Amino acid sequence: MQRRKLPKVHADALRHCYSGKTIARTTLFEEMEKASRPTPYLCPYCLLRTPRSWDHYFPKDDYPEFSTFALNLVRVCNSCNLRKGNRFVGPVRSVVHPFIDPLPPAPMVTATVHINGTRIALTYEIAPAPGAGVNPQILALMQRHFDALSVAADMAAEGNAMVNTLVNELVAGRNVPFTAEELGIILHGRLDARQGFPFNGCDIATLMALIEAPGFLAHVNSKVNPAAPPPGHMYAAMIASKNRLALTIDALAT
Ligand SMILES: [Zn+2]
Repeated sequence: MQRRKLPKVHADALRHCYSGKTIARTTLFEEMEKASRPTPYLCPYCLLRTPRSWDHYFPKDDYPEFSTFALNLVRVCNSCNLRKGNRFVGPVRSVVHPFIDPLPPAPMVTATVHINGTRIALTYEIAPAPGAGVNPQILALMQRHFDALSVAADMAAEGNAMVNTLVNELVAGRNVPFTAEELGIILHGRLDARQGFPFNGCDIATLMALIEAPGFLAHVNSKVNPAAPPPGHMYAAMIASKNRLALTIDALAT
């Protein structure tokens, strides 16, 4: 179907509805942002960062008639907005429309854990579970989206930082190895705490991968220091100090 090109004066007026910052327009956009704020509040393009700007899914330069059309306005993070710009929505779209594209109700993002000596690194890809029955066109669109907005690289940076923090937390003050059951309970607990997070997001993919990674237990245990002070040593030190204080008070009283 051929699009009818609007006269410039009409196109400018339509674009001005968005860029002209009237009080009514500002108030309306603030209300729209509040109304579409899920928990956690993440950019729907990368599922990583906090949205801070409006993306015109179909750019207002090319589609002035959609300048203020609610379904064309997507609250996104600044990185994704910059990367997308006016691109990726030509005849072959390369960015998922979060309100319209029918993403399947099953994870499409898979993380893989790579352990090399003392180092651990995760990679992220579009790889739904076998038999998930994802529409091939949606799968291809999601792959183009990942590539266009560099989502895999950003997820790797975020996921690897998260795993390193997790390992440091696990082994802090720990001097005996974890059992598989113990580590499994901790990881499942972290996963449960992320109920309501998007299942294509980095956190869920990372935790699912750690739970299933055969080498993660050995990796964590390789960081455990048998000479570390036993857990609870700070509490024990406080008790000792309290006892000393009590003795001092008794001594002063006599
Ligand atoms: Zn983003």
